[in-house]
Amino acid sequence: MTTSSDLFKRAQKCIPGGVNSPVRAFKGVGGDPVFFARGQGAYVWDEDGKRYIDYVGSWGPMILGHAHPRVMAAVKETMEYGLGFGAPTRIEVDMAELICRLVPSIKKVRMVSSGTEATMSAIRLARGFTGRDKIIKFEGCYHGHADSLLVKAGSGALTLGVPTSPGVPADLASHTLTLEYNNAAQARELFGKIGKDIACVIVEPVAGNMNCVPPVPGFLEALRELCTQHGAVLIFDEVMTGFRVALGGAQAHYGIQPDLTTLGKVIGGGLPVGAFGGRADIMARLAPEGPVYQAGTLSGNPVSLAAGMATLREISQPGFFEALTAKTAMLARGLAERAQRAGVALVTQQVGGMFGIFFTKGKSVTSFAQVMACDVERFKKFFHGMLREGVYLAPSAFETGFVSAAHTESDIDETLDKAEKVFKTL
Ligand code: PMP
Repeated sequence: MTTSSDLFKRAQKCIPGGVNSPVRAFKGVGGDPVFFARGQGAYVWDEDGKRYIDYVGSWGPMILGHAHPRVMAAVKETMEYGLGFGAPTRIEVDMAELICRLVPSIKKVRMVSSGTEATMSAIRLARGFTGRDKIIKFEGCYHGHADSLLVKAGSGALTLGVPTSPGVPADLASHTLTLEYNNAAQARELFGKIGKDIACVIVEPVAGNMNCVPPVPGFLEALRELCTQHGAVLIFDEVMTGFRVALGGAQAHYGIQPDLTTLGKVIGGGLPVGAFGGRADIMARLAPEGPVYQAGTLSGNPVSLAAGMATLREISQPGFFEALTAKTAMLARGLAERAQRAGVALVTQQVGGMFGIFFTKGKSVTSFAQVMACDVERFKKFFHGMLREGVYLAPSAFETGFVSAAHTESDIDETLDKAEKVFKTL
């Protein structure tokens, strides 16, 4: 009996499923979840004292590694002045100015406390701004758990959406239309039919919630063009990709300007923060300037923003993203090579500090259908093999991996050697 499994037993008695967010329960890979006690740099230690090289990084925020000294110092210093006021503070202005400078499509920004809040609010704003109800999203993308977004495609892709969770009213879901990611022709067809009813298109500019699927050339461009043509709002959900694939996010990487952007994860440096912002005329519709309501007791919390600001300062250093990208590419390329050597069919993909591993044949994975066709059983075996070896990967075949600035080349080499050993057992 390990301390982790003992804690999980206790947790299941008082927390639904024993966890505060479903993926943590290891349902996707089987077995009991690992309880973590501490993290430092590229490593985390579990309650039993075992060390792991961590490629989850709290699902993205830990781009500098765990407990980065400058982030910790900023939090401690800010904390001394009180934990929050529910009133305006200087650091909110500093943060807003910094975001607007780093992401030029954002002219005004509102801070919130999670990615879910950011996307939910951006959609309400897009609907309020356009006076339209219908929204378009893409299969395999995740935008948090607001009602309008827990929806999948109906019987045909162009039909009304149906809820993916009990508790989401069918009436509400019918306003969400779900199309295929990377299928511009389908988006064109839908806009051709009901373009004047569409309030917004929300998209992960690199899909990170069906493993890691970059946009094919022309896909994001087509969405930009269609939204402009039909007066719909283009929302890039950069909760994951923002400050992760490039300093200015995926929009800088691909050179496309959305109307609204949602942010989270890295922007809070590990503490709860989200944000949404964009065109000044759209943001002007937000309360108290405009009539679209949105609020938050803890929004813009100074301690969270201190962690976020310290993180953004570090990642703004010249060369930061070049180094992170090179290291992540070394990992992705290395995994593909070692798998090939062991006779295991594996595709790896990578953008900036995000990477994906797919147990499948072929050269690339560009669609949700291809992701679903991957060998999940093989992934589960790989995951548990790596866990035994002391490498912590996302406990699901449908999640992206994250590399931090704290991972050294020797951490990556160690990971590759361990992966090769595990590949040979698959
Ligand atoms: N959008 C994207 C692209 C995400 O990856 C996530 C979370 N993984 C969210 C929104 C929701 O963010 P949160 O979990 O902070 O509510």
